[in-house]
Amino acid sequence: MTPMTIDRDALSDEEFRGQLRAFLAEYYPAELKQDFYRPFRRLRGEPANQWLRTLQQHGWRAPAWPREHGGMGLSFRKQLIYHEELEHAGVARIIDLGETQLGPTLIKLGSAAQCEHYLPRILNCEHVWCQGYSEPNAGSDLASLRTSAVLEGDEFVVNGQKIWTTHANDSTHIFTLVRTGKYAKKQQGISFLLIDLNTPGITIRPIINLAGEDEFCEVFFDNVRVPRDNLVGELDQGWTVAKALLGYERVWIGSPALAGKALDLGQHLVQQLGLESDRGVMDQLAQLQADLHDYRLLYSRICDAIADSGKPPGPEVSMLKVYASELLHRLTEFNVSISGEYGAVVGDVELAGPSAEVTATDLYWQLMMARPVTIFAGANEIQRDILAKTVLGLQA
Ligand SMILES: Cc1cc2nc3c(=O)[nH]c(=O)nc-3n(C[C@H](O)[C@H](O)[C@H](O)COP(=O)(O)OP(=O)(O)OC[C@H]3O[C@@H](n4cnc5c(N)ncnc54)[C@H](O)[C@@H]3O)c2cc1C
Repeated sequence: MTPMTIDRDALSDEEFRGQLRAFLAEYYPAELKQDFYRPFRRLRGEPANQWLRTLQQHGWRAPAWPREHGGMGLSFRKQLIYHEELEHAGVARIIDLGETQLGPTLIKLGSAAQCEHYLPRILNCEHVWCQGYSEPNAGSDLASLRTSAVLEGDEFVVNGQKIWTTHANDSTHIFTLVRTGKYAKKQQGISFLLIDLNTPGITIRPIINLAGEDEFCEVFFDNVRVPRDNLVGELDQGWTVAKALLGYERVWIGSPALAGKALDLGQHLVQQLGLESDRGVMDQLAQLQADLHDYRLLYSRICDAIADSGKPPGPEVSMLKVYASELLHRLTEFNVSISGEYGAVVGDVELAGPSAEVTATDLYWQLMMARPVTIFAGANEIQRDILAKTVLGLQA
């Protein structure tokens, strides 16, 4: 049976979980696993592409895409199991925006020709996509973006700059929001454009983050000529295209998995450093345990409600992103603050592991990698604003 013909959505939840668990145990490389000490491990570049191709070859890629487009066609509930099992098996996270953002956008709003051309290339990693929305003066206020695309015959001529473009230096393509018209309302006159990063006139400059990684980039466009066919949706209607998928992103970012791993490490540090008799430390730990427990219940309640309704997530999922990201801040801060001199070290420190082997961990890196979670995919202040207006119905 070829991967495309396998209908895993038809399996019972238990069968599905069992098959995925067995597949991951057999195929996921042990040396790439997240473990107790490397809880936030991420894959990028060729190791990430290799793993995505393995998923593709075995019919485990693109859980949310319909099967007719090469995905798994899983229900939301099975997608939850899928993500749980990947976390359970220690699979490192991959930021695969082609699969999670562009593909579903094209399936929903792209032309048949765009789907036919781009979707298979996303699945086999021939194309690796990054997201070019933010600009130096257009982050939360994204509609103020100024990168322009002017139609000249059958081509757009693009000029301007994007910033904070995650993994642009590993990518072959970028999906962008560009200004194509000026209207009284600034959300109008924006278009959604697909650009090959090899096009002449594009310069990519990496930015080093606080953890010391070239995680994101500036991307400059200088008279970049882009075929008109690369426009997704209608001209000047890119805002609607970009907004089509926001809810699901907040559900996955809101997963309690990372916070759970940070807490496991925190509990271990308390033992390892002999802090069980420190009332202050134990009070903080108990609070964090209780908060994580509460949050897991909230997360599963919201996910169940989405699964039962069969509808896309509503604005209340902003709550997940806010709570999960702030809990992760608190946990990584706790881990550093209780670790004395170990917490102040940049780079690996050696601590005895749960099975008494000595293993290295980098608490500073974890603290720094947790910081941006409150910023990306819509800063928490903006999420609170959404909750206040649309969920609580408060006045602007
Ligand atoms: C790790 C990381 C990866 C990213 N990856 C990408 C990517 O791949 N592609 C991409 O396009 N962008 C990416 N971004 C950019 C991200 O979307 C923006 O950083 C975010 O939208 C915030 O915009 P800003 O940085 O311009 O901050 P600003 O919008 O200037 O905000 C600064 C502060 O002011 C607050 N604030 C702003 N407006 C309001 C308001 N109306 N009410 C209350 N408070 C407000 C914000 O919450 C924030 O605390 C990434 C960011 C990070 C940190």
